[in-house]
Amino acid sequence: MSETKPLLDARHLVKYYPILGGVFMKEIAAVKAVDDVSLSIQKGETLGLVGESGCGKSTFGRAIMRLEEPTSGEVWYDGDNILTYDAQQIRALRKKMQIIFQDPFSSLNPRKPVASIVGEPLLIHGMTNRREREARVLELLEVVGLSKEHMRRYPHMFSGGQRQRIGVARALALNPDLVVCDEAVSALDVSIQAQVLNLLKDLQDEFGLTYLFISHDLHVVEHISDRVAVMYLGKIVEVADSKVIYKTPLHPYTQALLSASPMPDPEAKRKRILLKGDVPSPINPPPGCRFHTRCPYVQGICSKTEPPLKEIRPGHEAACHFAGSVGV
Ligand code: SF4
Repeated sequence: MSETKPLLDARHLVKYYPILGGVFMKEIAAVKAVDDVSLSIQKGETLGLVGESGCGKSTFGRAIMRLEEPTSGEVWYDGDNILTYDAQQIRALRKKMQIIFQDPFSSLNPRKPVASIVGEPLLIHGMTNRREREARVLELLEVVGLSKEHMRRYPHMFSGGQRQRIGVARALALNPDLVVCDEAVSALDVSIQAQVLNLLKDLQDEFGLTYLFISHDLHVVEHISDRVAVMYLGKIVEVADSKVIYKTPLHPYTQALLSASPMPDPEAKRKRILLKGDVPSPINPPPGCRFHTRCPYVQGICSKTEPPLKEIRPGHEAACHFAGSVGV
């Protein structure tokens, strides 16, 4: 993949959810879901974004699309800071950025047939001619491996994999540039996951799509991602090319995630790292390195000074005071 200007460039993005309390319902605390995250995605690239549930990865995906209003920071898309956009500009932007959700069943309206579900974005964005719309819906269904006979059926009449294909068809309806796949295959059986991942890869090759692929499972994103970013408690702790991060993870959290996830290659052996305790609350994250309460390599400095995300090797960034000198 050739290096180009990023299609999307999030700079110091912050999303806090205020917690109100007291007689006057004032802000007494905040859930720090995304806390100063800078990430860019090149055109045509797939960036995997991985972390445990509640780490802020889905909030990041929604914030870059302005489905959630960021608290601060910048999101540059195709040369514009879209956080300055008004409602009309955001509406136009929706055509270019689409999202595929985890649960295809709950994200598809059970009372509408597939033709209406996939055709809805076309109608909203001005394709009022029914025949034209149906022709485009059929085209989209064929692209994702479905056919004309599926158009009049309802979501409950499909398998999980087929429902996610409908979700993909709807996301592609407006010819987007960027698709955020938010746990898009997590609800599917492993064999169906592989089919949907292959479909997404084929569609990327055919239409030049750019993906932000969000998952709690590092191995799910392994084959589809060009680069992978790992998130912990609202912060990015490691970013590298996909092959590099799986082979030589530098951050103890990435190492722990990889060791916890079953290896697809039975020959590959990795020392299992058991993480202590639960993920701390994002309302009151630990000082210094946020991972220090669970890190097997913690040292004195870790609870006092926050390690910056810095390039340890070319193209490989990690936020750990001892990156490259600790781990498996
Ligand atoms: Fe562990 Fe310290 Fe590195 Fe944080 S900075 S990951 S606590 S070794």
